[in-house]
Order: sequence, then C-alpha cells, then structure tokens
Amino acid sequence: MTSFLAFANLCQKVEETSGSLDKIDLVAAFLGTLDEAELAVSCSYVMGTLFPPGLDLDLGVGPSILYQALARACGCPISQVTDMLKATGDPGLVAAGMVEKKRPQGLSAFLERADGEESSLSIQDVHDRFLDIARSSGKRSQDIKVKNLQFLFSHSSPIEARYIARLAIEDMRIGIGEGGIRDAIARAFAANGATSQSVERAYNLTNDMGLVASAAREGTLDRLSVMINHPIKMMLAQLGESIPAALAEICTAAVEWKYDGARVQIHKDGDRVKVFSRRLENVTASLPEMVQAARKVMAKSAILDGEAVAVGSDGRPMAFQEILKRFRRKYDVEKLAKKIPLRLFLFDLIYLDGRSLTDLPLRERRALLEKVAGPDLRADQILSASAEEVAAIYERALEAGHEGLILKNPTSAYAPGKRGKNWLKIKPVMETLDLVVIGAKWGEGRRASFLGSYRLACVDQSSGKLLDVGWVATGITDEALSDLTEMFRELVILEKGMEVEIKPAVIFEVAYEEIQRSPNYSSGYALRFPRMVRVRDDKSLEEADSLERILSLYRGQRGRSNSV
Ligand code: AMP
Repeated sequence: MTSFLAFANLCQKVEETSGSLDKIDLVAAFLGTLDEAELAVSCSYVMGTLFPPGLDLDLGVGPSILYQALARACGCPISQVTDMLKATGDPGLVAAGMVEKKRPQGLSAFLERADGEESSLSIQDVHDRFLDIARSSGKRSQDIKVKNLQFLFSHSSPIEARYIARLAIEDMRIGIGEGGIRDAIARAFAANGATSQSVERAYNLTNDMGLVASAAREGTLDRLSVMINHPIKMMLAQLGESIPAALAEICTAAVEWKYDGARVQIHKDGDRVKVFSRRLENVTASLPEMVQAARKVMAKSAILDGEAVAVGSDGRPMAFQEILKRFRRKYDVEKLAKKIPLRLFLFDLIYLDGRSLTDLPLRERRALLEKVAGPDLRADQILSASAEEVAAIYERALEAGHEGLILKNPTSAYAPGKRGKNWLKIKPVMETLDLVVIGAKWGEGRRASFLGSYRLACVDQSSGKLLDVGWVATGITDEALSDLTEMFRELVILEKGMEVEIKPAVIFEVAYEEIQRSPNYSSGYALRFPRMVRVRDDKSLEEADSLERILSLYRGQRGRSNSV
C-alpha cells in the first residue's frame, strides 16, 4: 500500500521542478511503483481530476465546506483560514500552513515525522474518503463532506494537507497537464508497448486516464475503444482562411451551418440518455429537450454529436449566455426551458448499436445518421465544390443569425480531441480592439517566473474610468512573455498574491471571436477567445478603445434574437 505522503512528496517535487521532461521523469518513476488501483487513482489525481467523467461523480465541495473542515481539523476560527487565503491566494498553502501550526511541537514530534514515512493515510484511504464525499446526498450531505475532509486534514502532515486541499478544488497547480501525464504513462510502460500516441488515442476515446494507465501496463491500449456512457473528447474545427482556401484544402466539402449554440454529446443507451457538454460535464438534468430528442433516434444505443441552439420566439438563435444559463441550471429547469427553449441539431454519429464508428469516413457516418435520425433532429448538409454555392450558404447562415459555416472533409475519420484541417470553420473576421493593460497574473509551472496573463480594460468616455473586459493569455510567445514581464515589472503598483495591479500605460491590440455580456467585469462585457495580436507602442492611453465602441461591435455582431 502506497502512502498518500509518497504521492504528496511526488507532487511537491514536480511542482518545484521547472523542466517539463524532468517532471515527466519523476511521475513516470512513481507510476512504476504502484499497484493497479493506486495507479488509476494517481494518474487522475496528478491531473487534478478526482473521478473520470464517465462515473458521474461530483465532489460538490466549495470553498465554504473546505474552509469549515480545515478550521475544525485545526481548531481555529474560519476567519483565520480566510485571512490566510487573502494573503496567499492558494488553498493548498493555507491548508499546509494551518496543519503546520497545529502540529505538536518539540523533538519527539519532529522525530516521529522526520523520516517522512509516518503517514497514516494511504492513497486508497484518501480516495475512499473522496468517494464518500461524492456519493453523499440529501440533508446530511454537507455534514458528511465536512467530516470526511476534517478527518483527512486531521490525519495529514502539512505537505499532505496541501495536496488534499488542492484535490478538493481539483486544481493541483504542479505544472503538469494532460500531455505530461500521457508522456509519463508512455515512459513508465514503454516496455509493454506504450507510446505517447497510443496513450493519447486511448485517452481521447475513453477520457479516463486511470483506465488508460492500467491498459498501458497490461499492454492492451489498442483494445480500448469508445464506450457508451463514457464521454469521448469532441472533434474540433480549425479556423479556415476563406471559402476558396478551405475548398482548396478539402475539394468537395460537406458543408454545414456553424450553428450559434453549445456543443452536446448525447449517449443513448436504450431509453437511458446522458447529455455531456463540450467540457464533458454531465448536463442531462438541465436539458430535458435534449433527452426527449435523443429518444426519437432510432437506435438501441448511440453516441450522437451535435449543437443545442436556443431558439427565440422570432426563430433566431438567442445569445450564447442564454444557452449557458440552461446548461448551468439545477432547479426550476422546466420553467427556464419555457423561456429559453433548446433545439437539437445533430451533425455526427460516433457509435451505433455496440459499434464504434470513429474510423469510418464522415460520408458513411452521415449516411447512418440519416437512417437513425429524422430531418427535424439533424443539421442540414450539402456536398459542394463550388465557392459560389458555398458563399451563398454562408450568407444564409449569417442572415439566420448563426456563426458561419463548417466545411468538413467527407472522407475523414472522427478524430476525438483534435482540431485539424478536416473541419474548417468559416466565420466573419472581427475587428481587433486596442485595450489598456491594468493588471497581470504570474504564470504557473514553466511560466512561473513570467507575468502570463493580462487584465484588459476599455475607457468609459463619460467618466474617463477604465473598465475591465477580461484577461488575455494566448497569442504570446515565450520570448515575448519575457520581454513583457520586464516591461511590466516597472509598472507594478500593487501585488496581491499571484496577481499584480499595473499602472495603465500599455495598450494591447487584441483579437477575439465574439463579445459577450458579462456580469464578471466592470464594463459589463467580456471577450470570447481573446488573443493578443501585438503591443501598440504607437498608441497612447487616450487612443484606447471605448466602452461605446465595444457596445456597438456587440450590437453589430449578428442578427441575434431579441426575445430574451
Ligand atoms: P469553435 O468553438 O469556434 O472552435 O467552433 C467549433 C464549435 O462549433 C463546435 O464545438 C460546435 O459547438 C460548434 N458547431 C456549430 N455547428 C457545427 C457543425 N455543423 N459541426 C460542428 N460543429 C459545429
């Protein structure tokens, strides 16, 4: 039985190591020492995932439960926990600090723990407690959650507490992600034939790193396939340059509208239906229309891929946020469904009656989809090689208030988790915005010594105030990051944990895919998929874009429904 302390020590070493190859080596060596159950749990834990999405288990621990448990375990008021949190911004460090404080002092206590192997908790003990927490429901569930966490903190050393707290919020902050674990599994079980590619393929199909690690150890990775009720990573689209360029790539394309909605993956297993969101969360309870629609599909079992669109009373799609409200809603679902009704547009079939279809060409998957789902459930699709014809479809999609088109290669397989050239999206190019940098956050892992994301603001012309519109972290190369960090170091006004406030002086030109309304930012708007284009050294603060411009770009985006 491997102690949880051994796992926590590994995490600490990984966190302190900067090179990604060294991190992978550390994890690979650790994985090789574990039994099967520990291997499965540890692989998920390193990624900050407690349970694979197919298990439908949700820990349901928010900050209030976590801090209550910690305060009880350490015999201090909650205010002490929250004060420490304000200072560090990291629940893991807070938990470690609190446990450290309550530890018995003196030589005997030191000797007891000095060799680091006195931990009473095993990896399995910790997992069993997390399982208890996730399975608790009803009136007593809050109490069960607090008690289990309290038990864990009471029996842990500071270093264990650090990672128990981070696991409870599913954010490990050790600078190793899915790609790192994939490579570590491949390295640990290379002798049994595992490679990064075979591990990645198996993970994209099953979404269960524990299962993948076990199969890698057994040498049976290629036997893993799509499983009903286990969400599979969704295939994604790349941005196409233009309709002619996309047709030059694909020749005869399967042309579909790019619906303005939210992705759903539906698993129909007899009459039982599960709906997963783009992030593979189980959203079945929030979306009864999707369940009803899937029941109309004429198949015993199927995995269906499509878009849920909120249709306004004028027949046009409602804003993306309205759909999100539906996805997040846990109570009064039917009431909200009346206000924001969803319609399903299926565009792919991944699995049918016990058989995975991922390796079939789209053309054949589409033919099967047409057999099992009527036109009321399907996205329209036209095969075309003519730029004029495709341009006319594009105009119609935009007129109808949708995002544009997706041109798909009819000969391509379903590539889970891949953003490739077999699906090319065509959408109007948005004008860039020039925004003022007013804050930044220190990065993590490899980017720990750099300011990695930047808080942006526009100008409210009526008051002259700067109003934030969100953060940008993409589009910045490592080299640029280092230059930017140097530049902003001089402009830091205030440090707050991982965040810094920056004297407004620098303008970033930022591209984005869409402007959304957002209560999270003082401007009331947020940018979807913001990407830094360049620093506008040539522009002064006065030339930054105004709230009024954001508003007018927002209004002009597309012909959206006004019904909500
Ligand atoms: P993006 O989110 O811009 O990367 O574009 C990909 C998203 O477009 C998918 O995840 C779907 O949610 C959405 N989408 C809308 N219509 C389609 C379609 N016909 N085929 C594939 N994806 C679509």
